[in-house]
Amino acid sequence: MKFKTTKLLLASKNQGKLEELKVLLQEYPLEVISLEEYPELPETIEDGKTFEENAIKKAWEKAKETGLLTIADDSGLEVEALGNKPGVYSARFAGEPKSDKRNNQKLLSLLKGIPLEERKARFVSVIAIATPEKKIYTVEGTCEGRILFEEKGAGGFGYDPLFYFPDLNKTFAELTLSEKNKVSHRGKALRKATQILGDLFNRA
Ligand code: IMP
Repeated sequence: MKFKTTKLLLASKNQGKLEELKVLLQEYPLEVISLEEYPELPETIEDGKTFEENAIKKAWEKAKETGLLTIADDSGLEVEALGNKPGVYSARFAGEPKSDKRNNQKLLSLLKGIPLEERKARFVSVIAIATPEKKIYTVEGTCEGRILFEEKGAGGFGYDPLFYFPDLNKTFAELTLSEKNKVSHRGKALRKATQILGDLFNRA
């Protein structure tokens, strides 16, 4: 397989995700860039019913538009007692404009009166890699925990202060970024994705 360049496009404008990916890919002969370099491109409409659909849509749309090997991710929280909600609607669970604080309040109110053993939740991250020839690869990472009764910890983002991770006896908001990356859904998916990229480049 031949690529137009050794550039890898991250289909996101999130600087944090870009830095995370660059660290994981530093041993590869790749220049990782983000959509910040393509301000003229339209934003992908994330209307998929699954994380996989959204991740593939984001990656393939941008691979087609730019001719570059492209990577995209979609993630969220699934709470068992809520029939796996908020799922793909995690970012805007409490409506527009998106707000982590209101999302967490909504989650707590929906789980009111439910005991800890029935507050099982998991974070899911699906990463899609698309080539300009429309070869698509996907990988998934998950992380299991419980939703606490109130927020704990000041780090992280999103649902982190409510997500208790039993293996470390802490919420995700009480972990450092490097501790979180070792166990998180996104960290797991990203490590699988780097294996695929390594295989692709060995074959290129
Ligand atoms: P996105 O995939 O970056 O768009 O994330 C979707 C939403 O899922 C975020 O806005 C958060 O609400 C939630 N989410 C995804 N990953 C995490 C995480 O690691 N911690 C907390 N919330 C997360």
